[in-house]
Amino acid sequence: MELVQAEVENHYRSKVVDQVRALQGKLTIGNTTVRLAQAFGFCYGVERAIDLAYAARRVFADRDIYLIGEIIHNPEVNRQLQAMGIKNIDGPNPDKEISDLTADDVVIVPAFGTTTELMAKLQERGCQVIDTTCGDVMTVWKRVRKYAEEGVTSIIHGKSYHEETKATASRSTGPDGRGHYLVVLDLEETDYVCHYIEHGGDREEFLLKFAHAHSDGFDPDRDLCHIGVANQTTMLKSETEEMQRRLGAAVQRRDHGATENFRLFETICGATQERQDALFEMLNEPMDLLLVVGGYNSSNTSQLVKIGGKHLPTFFIRDADCLRSLEEIVHYDLSRKHEVTSYSTALLGEAPVKVGITAGASCPNNLIEQTILKIFELRGISSEAVTAS
Ligand code: SF4
Repeated sequence: MELVQAEVENHYRSKVVDQVRALQGKLTIGNTTVRLAQAFGFCYGVERAIDLAYAARRVFADRDIYLIGEIIHNPEVNRQLQAMGIKNIDGPNPDKEISDLTADDVVIVPAFGTTTELMAKLQERGCQVIDTTCGDVMTVWKRVRKYAEEGVTSIIHGKSYHEETKATASRSTGPDGRGHYLVVLDLEETDYVCHYIEHGGDREEFLLKFAHAHSDGFDPDRDLCHIGVANQTTMLKSETEEMQRRLGAAVQRRDHGATENFRLFETICGATQERQDALFEMLNEPMDLLLVVGGYNSSNTSQLVKIGGKHLPTFFIRDADCLRSLEEIVHYDLSRKHEVTSYSTALLGEAPVKVGITAGASCPNNLIEQTILKIFELRGISSEAVTAS
């Protein structure tokens, strides 16, 4: 593992990021300041998953290694693993790809885990499984399994299409498959569910609204009687708390003040929380622009974008290449769900400029370094000047 960790460090570490950190997260050269959040980038779960993937490549040097989907949501890291000969199982028909595997094959399960169905298939094939599922994700699984044992429906605050939420949902039906779950994305959906809990409603409309977001055979008239909340570990903490409050209050009103039909368990992971708290802290300072660096499909990164967007011009960029010029920024638009190009005047001119940077838990430091250097370069300050400062 020591050898592997040195290799990973070599691929993803950054001297410039270390340098800015040593300066309490603030580097000013001339009229340009870059401000880094106190917590950003790789979390412990991601580091461990990457270390295990690198170790698998060394240990099983002469065997085919496959990865279920992506190890984490960052294109740079996934590209690096592909370059090491690790193949992705991410085609339109993963069942077929898995049925072609043999006992000689090694399969890596990513940090956000995978479904019980898929794990069973891998076991059937007899593959060597390297499970990198983060411990914080497993804590959520433990909780929803307990809900299932107690006949409580899991209300999962998350994205129904996200791998982690799918994996959690698959555990919430319990070992006998008789438990139930409902995935709720946001406060609008929460209010709809709360209204149904209190007043009932149109069952068919409910099922249509949450199509693909509930367990097989889910019946809102029956399965919303006893509910317990859990969440995808990377959601916005304040939204999860508000969702819990609204659901708890709805159950209490329906049950004339009784609380025993409602459970809750805080399952936002520590790393997600730290990154959100660090951004709130940084936002207390005036800044001209915020750049959030990370993979566009990264859930915890998108929460940082939402937080920043409420305070100042915020751009969700994949890497430094997205900064095309002082004005032109290519970035991901969360509401339109695709990459767009915008023009900003925030970096223009001779007046002092302060740019905030943060990054999701799946973003390596080398991408953050490139972003820092690009900002200074666009402002006419060379990388040599940055490293010498
Ligand atoms: S974001 Fe949280 S749950 Fe996900 S891998 Fe990192 S520590 Fe684990």
